[in-house]
Amino acid sequence: MTDRRTCPLCRAGMLVRMFPDAHDWLVRCRACGLGLADPQPTDAELAAIYDADYYQQFGYAAGPAAEALARIKRATYARMLRQAGRWRDLPARPGAPGARGQSLPRSRQVGMALQRRPRLLDVGCGLGYSLAAARDRGWDAFGLEPHAMGGRGLEGTPLAGRVAHATLEDYRPPEPFDLVSLVDVIEHVRDPLATIRQAARLIRPGGLLLLATNNVQSRQARRLGPRWVHFHRAHLWYFSPATLAAVARAGQEDSADRRDAGLKPVPHGQDAHAACDAGWKPVMQGRDTHVACDAGLPPVVRGQVDCGDLPGRDAHVAGGLGVLRVEQAWRVYNLQYVASILAGGGNFGLARRLARLSLRLTPRPLRLASWPPLPEGMVLLARR
Ligand SMILES: [Zn+2]
Repeated sequence: MTDRRTCPLCRAGMLVRMFPDAHDWLVRCRACGLGLADPQPTDAELAAIYDADYYQQFGYAAGPAAEALARIKRATYARMLRQAGRWRDLPARPGAPGARGQSLPRSRQVGMALQRRPRLLDVGCGLGYSLAAARDRGWDAFGLEPHAMGGRGLEGTPLAGRVAHATLEDYRPPEPFDLVSLVDVIEHVRDPLATIRQAARLIRPGGLLLLATNNVQSRQARRLGPRWVHFHRAHLWYFSPATLAAVARAGQEDSADRRDAGLKPVPHGQDAHAACDAGWKPVMQGRDTHVACDAGLPPVVRGQVDCGDLPGRDAHVAGGLGVLRVEQAWRVYNLQYVASILAGGGNFGLARRLARLSLRLTPRPLRLASWPPLPEGMVLLARR
């Protein structure tokens, strides 16, 4: 049995082990689908994970490997910014109107036309490569990273010094931001709701929140089961499109009973509404609610019964965050990056051995060449 009695998101007492025979710390709520580590890792366990060598597991090293890592991280972040760009008139590419200080055109979509470069903050920016991608697309980019390696990838570039070594809670910028992103961050934090609340505080009204994380309902996750690479002690939470949308919205409501609870209670059935707001249709399957995308994106789950439109589909939360959409995320990798992760912590012995072998035998240019973008995880966009 698990230590917790109830789901921290929906309060249902329906927590079950994800896999009876593996990862006995992995739990799933049968009501809302949230996955979580239970018990959660101790502070000492997390400190050991985020040690000085943390970034080496991703293939970070000086020279060509660092440049290759920079390329794939920049390409991945640029794709996510492009997804955010559909929701307001952001500069689309270098040289486009609005890029590099040119005046922006009138708003074509959502948001206000800006007479300045839009300001962006990447929370948990790691080595800082996202800032380079953002600057190339016309953003006035800043980063926040508590790890000692924060911003290390920007040394010697015009962006050096733009990464603050502070926690989100302690960070006090002089002005709010037009976009705040958290890429592969929300699954690592102790309190996702508090994190979203702190991030939203830094967004100007009308500005955007971009959350990217893995998707526990993705095809890969379903196919691989306990061998899915994201089942890792550093990941405290495992979201689906519906639970990510529910958390993003819940993080904005002030509720006394939630401050001590960590996560907001969401009434039964609200996850379905959250899914609809996010552009996914809830689909009933047996006793569970799953969601399928209704906008031509790859479905998460296809079911038999379509619930159709639910009330509140386009509702925005006044003064808080309105979830616009949860979309497929696309990421650019190289062999060095993927094999380094699998070789170090893969949940799959054969994959671990193959990864080690490929790191040893593949010539460096092949190891460091960027792959075409792959569907992996999800991007949530919300407007303040
Ligand atoms: Zn739940």
